Amino acid sequence: MSRHARRGRAGLAAVLALLAPPLLACEPELTPVAPATWVVEGAREEIAADNCGLIANLGVIATGEGVVLIDSGPSRTLGEALEAEIMALTGQPVRWVLNTHHHPDHVFGNQAFANAEVLALAGTAEAMARDAAAFEANLRRLLGEAFAGTRLRLPDRAVAPGRHDFGGYPLELHAFRGHSGADLVIFDAATGVLFAGDLVFHQRTATTPHTPGLQAWIEELDRLEALRYRVMVPGHGPVDHEGAALAQTRDYLAWLDRHFDEQASRGATANQVREAPLPERFAGLALAEYELTRSLSHLYPRYEQRWLWGEAP
Ligand SMILES: [Zn+2]
Repeated sequence: MSRHARRGRAGLAAVLALLAPPLLACEPELTPVAPATWVVEGAREEIAADNCGLIANLGVIATGEGVVLIDSGPSRTLGEALEAEIMALTGQPVRWVLNTHHHPDHVFGNQAFANAEVLALAGTAEAMARDAAAFEANLRRLLGEAFAGTRLRLPDRAVAPGRHDFGGYPLELHAFRGHSGADLVIFDAATGVLFAGDLVFHQRTATTPHTPGLQAWIEELDRLEALRYRVMVPGHGPVDHEGAALAQTRDYLAWLDRHFDEQASRGATANQVREAPLPERFAGLALAEYELTRSLSHLYPRYEQRWLWGEAP
């Protein structure tokens, strides 16, 4: 190849690099929310190749003796990018990964943190093992290249609720079940930051496929509120300092519960329920129609059964 042709090819590569979609679109961006505490806010969208599956919020606490990472994102690649960002920002390696629950947008980055211990509630580890193959196949289909080389790394150890020391840095772990059947909540009493996992959604409609029941979930929100946090990190949507995220989640779940119950009491079919208008105050939440349709397909039959057979939803 002539020198001229080589130079031409290099020039073409530079032009293509400029035209290519920026890789930065999927790079995790750490935003400070309290001393030594950061959050990566996921996109308020469905999981998709465009957002590399980065739709859940991730938390970072630098203890001085290593970093506690709260949820690891959707893939090995994303986890590796996150690890590099964390090291650049804090100068500390990730030593502990806490999985708040088993949903794929929260746990498939585990694999990237080879030198960290991955911890979760026992129920979360069981659910991950049970659903691993289905979640992997689904993410491979949805994320394509962004999921390449990813395998689910199960937790190394189950954690019990209570106060735990991470390199001398105390965190309170609380066990709930309202969103997924096993939901780990992390409270940092020193900074007042509460990592609520998917028990709380903010400006983004709640996902309900694995809830043991909306009533149970709503009751747990009262327990969360009693923790007297100052900063709420929801599982999805912006960090909240006003108590708005918890109130919004409670309002939506209570409406959904009432709505399905009323419709089922009248014998409405799922199609009829789908046509009922969404209250104005929820219309602006991201993925409102999408999540309502999903909730309808997996939750509404429980309400119908209760009215038909007297079973509790
Ligand atoms: Zn979830």
